Amino acid sequence: MDLGTSVELMWGLGLAEYEATLLQSLAGDEYQLRNWPLSALPNPADMQGESPALAWISADAWDGLPAKHRTALQEWDAPLRILILDEKATDLCYEEVAEQGFLTTIRCPLRREAVQDVLFRAREIRTMYTDVISMTKEILLERELLARKTDQLQFLNRILTRASESLDPRTIMNRAREDMDMLFPVQAVQALFWRETAAGPEAELYLSPGLSAESRRQWCAYLLEQAAPIIGREVRSYTIVPLESRSQGQEGDIGGPQPAAVVAMPLRTGLTPFGLLALSSKEPVSLARDQVQTITAAVQHLALALKNALLYREVQTMADFDGLTRIHNRQSFDRRLREELARHKRYQQPISLLMLDLDHFKRINDSFGHEAGDMVLRELGRILSESMRETDIAARYGGEEFVVILPHTDESNAHTLAQRLRAAICGKIFHFHGQTFQVTVSIGISSIDAASVDLDTNLVREADQALYLAKRNGRNMVCRQVDEDSLQAAGN
Ligand code: GH3
Ligand code: MG
Ligand code: MG
Repeated sequence: MDLGTSVELMWGLGLAEYEATLLQSLAGDEYQLRNWPLSALPNPADMQGESPALAWISADAWDGLPAKHRTALQEWDAPLRILILDEKATDLCYEEVAEQGFLTTIRCPLRREAVQDVLFRAREIRTMYTDVISMTKEILLERELLARKTDQLQFLNRILTRASESLDPRTIMNRAREDMDMLFPVQAVQALFWRETAAGPEAELYLSPGLSAESRRQWCAYLLEQAAPIIGREVRSYTIVPLESRSQGQEGDIGGPQPAAVVAMPLRTGLTPFGLLALSSKEPVSLARDQVQTITAAVQHLALALKNALLYREVQTMADFDGLTRIHNRQSFDRRLREELARHKRYQQPISLLMLDLDHFKRINDSFGHEAGDMVLRELGRILSESMRETDIAARYGGEEFVVILPHTDESNAHTLAQRLRAAICGKIFHFHGQTFQVTVSIGISSIDAASVDLDTNLVREADQALYLAKRNGRNMVCRQVDEDSLQAAGN
């Protein structure tokens, strides 16, 4: 029954026909009465379907109702129920009325004033009821918002605490991936950091481990493209640092970026941007406003921790590396050699050391100038670091002297490597202000083999002695200490 918005539905339950007609006329046009005869009372589906505002029932009908109907009506919480008493019936007290699930009683014969009074009270109650419901909803909503705020604060606190516990950008990013997962299903956290150099911006891309060559190419292109407007220039020079697989990308290749599934945010300290963080999900991401705010706040915290870690690394690099050649310096070499010797003692692996010295280097400085000499030293640093395995450690030992620690390498393999280095260096043609020249190196080798536990062997001293031998015997050569006898025998 469509009653429009201004007409309210009332039910009569078992009212006599004259009673129903009278009630309808006393209630007026704002109400529409539907009377159910006693012989066909509504079933539960009817009761759910229409939900009338009021239900009127005569006391006779009520008393005669089967228990099943009576209970159904009492448990029906939609309409306010009014009991119509006949003229002779005794009054019921309020408790009796309420107990039976009625709002009030009204006595026959029905009079306009009494009916209007009941309707007025019913309307008041319904308004109050609606108010209570909407207030309850508001309170629940408020409570939910507060709970979310608390969650967000806990989340920010956690991300900040964990990020500031590490000075390694990779650890910070791995933890961020775990923590961000509380907000949305983050599959990977990757980043691009850049710094200005004389040759333009230089970037480092921290990428998920296990990327296929194609995915890596796509991520590089994506991150560089996103970073360009923040930097204000295109980045042409970059290196890739793979993140550890402990937490990131355990599933292997995460595939290339799908822009709708990536949240990319600039990393800033104050107003100065220094990087870009890309949080990516498997599915397109749609975030509520408060989630965006939380992520923005979290990324601000992460930016501070990451900048701190990058600065720390820079300071460490400055302390451990030689400014001219960009390979390890003497202090770093001494420490690494101690560590490698301790490892050798533990695992009984062979270890070798090369000591290199440029031949007649003084002449290069004298003939072409100090700058040309510096260029040679830089180039030597580059050749050394490019020829090394990841576990080898090349260092500048002093002026034009270099050393290379070769863990897990016996003397024979060290010799092969040394010869290769010597050949690469003397084959290199240097160009300096229109002039060309070449340089050579002498190399001394010392080794401790796998079985040796003779830690009195002084690798540095023995390599130095072997180097001296190479110098004495004509330079541009590789010598071992044991070579002394054979060289002497050959009359050198
Ligand atoms: P030898 O073959 O016997 O090793 O001869 P050499 O001339 O290389 O050896 P010497 O020890 O006589 O000279 C080393 C030179 O290396 C002298 C020094 O000016 C130069 N040198 C040391 N450090 C640097 C540097 O940082 N830059 C430049 N350009 N030259 C350096
Ligand atoms: Mg020297
Ligand atoms: Mg020299």
